[in-house]
Amino acid sequence: MLANTYKSPDYYLTDELFSAEHKMIRSAIRDWVNKAVIPIIDEANQKHQFPQHLVKELGELGAFGPCIPQKYGGAGMDQMSYGLIMQELERGDSAIRSMASVQSSLVMYPICKFGSEEQRMKYLPKLATGEFVGAFGLTEPDYGSDPGSMITNFTDKGDYYLLNGAKMWITNAPIADVCVVWAKDDEGIIKGLIVEKGMEGFTAPEILKKWSLRASLTGELIFDNVKIPKKNLLPDIKGLKGPLTCLSSARYGIAWGVIGAAMDCYDTALRYSLERKQFNKPIASFQLTQKKLAEILTEITKAQLLAWRLGILRNEDRATPAQISMAKRNNVQMALDVARESRQILGAMGITGDFPMMRHMMNLESVITYEGTHDIHLLITGNDITGISAFY
Ligand SMILES: Cc1cc2nc3c(=O)[nH]c(=O)nc-3n(C[C@H](O)[C@H](O)[C@H](O)COP(=O)(O)OP(=O)(O)OC[C@H]3O[C@@H](n4cnc5c(N)ncnc54)[C@H](O)[C@@H]3O)c2cc1C
Repeated sequence: MLANTYKSPDYYLTDELFSAEHKMIRSAIRDWVNKAVIPIIDEANQKHQFPQHLVKELGELGAFGPCIPQKYGGAGMDQMSYGLIMQELERGDSAIRSMASVQSSLVMYPICKFGSEEQRMKYLPKLATGEFVGAFGLTEPDYGSDPGSMITNFTDKGDYYLLNGAKMWITNAPIADVCVVWAKDDEGIIKGLIVEKGMEGFTAPEILKKWSLRASLTGELIFDNVKIPKKNLLPDIKGLKGPLTCLSSARYGIAWGVIGAAMDCYDTALRYSLERKQFNKPIASFQLTQKKLAEILTEITKAQLLAWRLGILRNEDRATPAQISMAKRNNVQMALDVARESRQILGAMGITGDFPMMRHMMNLESVITYEGTHDIHLLITGNDITGISAFY
């Protein structure tokens, strides 16, 4: 295995675009990933185990809800900081970034934006420290790309709501204390409910045998006549706009996160190619290896600039969902291509757990599907530029 001397590529001097504070946040997360994630992550993947001991540490680092106001336990950071945190976490593993993404963008964000003050005070500080783990339930066994057709529903029973249905492919589900669940009310309007672990009739079995995101917990959320207190309804949102607004925040984080995975693959491949000799020469001296490295670096550089610009637009509250779709789609495909090309540079060694490429590649197969598939994001761009939807 190569010594851990990771050097992040910065061909277009993008470091100059970040403030001293951004760089400090990035270094803190990078150092933590080197110390806490890199040494254990291959084994966690091989054993299909989520490294749960990292949850509290992520909380201490400020990786949960970095953009949430400080009075609710967040760090009140800007969007660029959030992006850089996601980038560094995913350099470690997409599972770690997914955990933090769900907690921040899909659980804390909707409670902060659409919740009551009582809900904010009750849940956000504990989610920020990692005392509570959160999950986001939108996808169902029969409805993935088409969440508007969901069948999970709740009925008003006077003193409480009665929730029935099932959610599928839910990150963090088996250990979640707090789930933001999207369901239809008596009139068929989608609303958000906060479901807590231990409520009668609520179970969250794990989905096993994954070949991707093996260090992440994925599960179902099953609701069998679950009584939900009325105060657990998110009061300030109705319709599909609720979950889609959360997804815009999470997809933005993915557009950054996957750059971290790609940078890890590139850095490993570059160093290996300079050390590995065939035909008495480093393999880095062959034109075809250089073509791979040059193209990889070009694609990473383009993705870095896309994410940076999107960060500016997010900070100014001007980024559109379609712009976020474009960045998510482009950058995930880029990272997947980079993982595959850099794996080839390592030859047979590239398929082992001593190097990160196969792990990143397998993880990215989930990332290219979740939070809107690759094709759906393309069709969102198509819809945006033509005004005509080709998918519904
Ligand atoms: C590891 C993992 C973690 C996840 N975590 C969560 C989570 O925490 N919370 C949550 O709610 N969900 C989660 N998901 C679910 C994820 O968001 C869905 O898998 C995704 O939205 C796609 O839905 P689907 O898998 O049902 O695919 P489908 O919607 O069945 O799509 C299958 C294929 O058909 C294509 N397709 C569908 N409709 C169209 C169309 N109109 N035009 C063209 N092509 C189309 C798709 O692009 C895709 O290629 C997770 C998934 C995975 C794999």
